[in-house]
Amino acid sequence: MKTIIEPFRIKVVEPIQMTTREEREVILKEAGYNLFCVDADKVLIDLLTDSGTGAMSSEQWAGIMRGDESYAGAISFHRFYDRVVEITGFSEVLPTHQGRASERILFEVMGGPGLVVPNNSHFDTTRANVEASGAKAVDLVIDEAYDPKSRNPFKGNMNIDRLQQLFAEVGVSKIPLVMLTVTNNSGGGQPVSLANIREVRKVCDDHGVPLFLDACRFAENAYFIKLREPGMADRTVSSIVREMFDLADGATISAKKYGLANIGGLLLFRDAALARQARNLLILTEGFPTYGGLAGRDLEAIAQGLEEVLHEDYLRYRIRSVAYLGERLLAGGVQIVEPPGGHAVYIDATAFCPHLTPEQFPAQAVVCALYRHAGVRGVEIGSLMFGGDGQAPEMELVRLALPRRTYTQSHIDYVIEAVLEVFAERDKIKPLEIVEAPAQLRHFTARLRELDG
Ligand SMILES: *Cc1c(COP(=O)(O)O)cnc(C)c1O
Repeated sequence: MKTIIEPFRIKVVEPIQMTTREEREVILKEAGYNLFCVDADKVLIDLLTDSGTGAMSSEQWAGIMRGDESYAGAISFHRFYDRVVEITGFSEVLPTHQGRASERILFEVMGGPGLVVPNNSHFDTTRANVEASGAKAVDLVIDEAYDPKSRNPFKGNMNIDRLQQLFAEVGVSKIPLVMLTVTNNSGGGQPVSLANIREVRKVCDDHGVPLFLDACRFAENAYFIKLREPGMADRTVSSIVREMFDLADGATISAKKYGLANIGGLLLFRDAALARQARNLLILTEGFPTYGGLAGRDLEAIAQGLEEVLHEDYLRYRIRSVAYLGERLLAGGVQIVEPPGGHAVYIDATAFCPHLTPEQFPAQAVVCALYRHAGVRGVEIGSLMFGGDGQAPEMELVRLALPRRTYTQSHIDYVIEAVLEVFAERDKIKPLEIVEAPAQLRHFTARLRELDG
């Protein structure tokens, strides 16, 4: 059989509230053409993010009931700990309330003024936490990452020459660690090859610097390695995941992505002395080391989620659903970042709206048009998000992120139809201008207005 089905059936449903185009027109205006300001019950299909928005399994809900809420030595922590050690091999396991809390603690321990942290591409919270410590965040992803049409199978790879150059330029003493984001979220959800992780490891070894993974989507990355990297097809995803972690000295993970949970994070180390420092900070703001920033029930949901995320039926369905959305858009003439990523499809808004300049926020205009037309909520990753310093970013993108196990194929067909219908009338998409916006992270709260062509 060639039809790939959702590898689950549905036990609980959450009704979607329908709205008309006229109602959405009013909602859009009231929200200042900013979809972050629209209430979720006014959204038909919500592709804003895949973070914490997925559905949990019946076993995860059973875990929620089993959760041990003891302050110290909770049994749920042991289940969580054993599962994390089994998958990653890291013996020092700190639970946090979400990925950015892990980042905050990591860079408080390892960052600092005058230091430089290289990454393939820093995710926005990672960059903010590196910079909050006083260090500088540098992106060294390969050049193909910025070409939407390049079909390089591992567009998330680190540019090894530029990494070597950075060491030569700033000196080993200024580089406290190297990070690799798998998959590369800011760069289109693109994977990093095992060969590239090994090469980065080699550079780190040559300089005696530790390698950390921002491993939010480690399972998707491993599945892409299995599909695309020569010699990997017969390996299990678990063994590839384990090799990825074995090549690193530590990791930060958001359990809202690949814990298949609604909240949670992990901070992982091999080095006991580093872990001790981090644990002291954990106690200060997150909580006691056996629960971090979480309830016992959350630890249970994550422990179970970390098991389910490695099921190859699940991963096949996951990667295939994103690819399906991407392929249909491409076939309809919509340029996306090729090939489709692991958790989202990124529409190239520069190609979608050639009549709009970056100052007219083409990607945000497409986001608004999609919502008005069909109630679909995507997110702008372009001049509104990154252009606050007056410089246009490399790409103007609209991200359609798929929450895990939440929407069926007919929902995705609806999204495809919506995008193609908006595309057919793309010359009617109007420019936007900012009415008011804060200086930092302006995309969350900015108010805009639509101009007449
Ligand atoms: C989501 C994400 C984070 C931050 O995790 P939160 O749980 O949202 O705090 C860090 N890095 C990457 C690559 C992410 O996708």
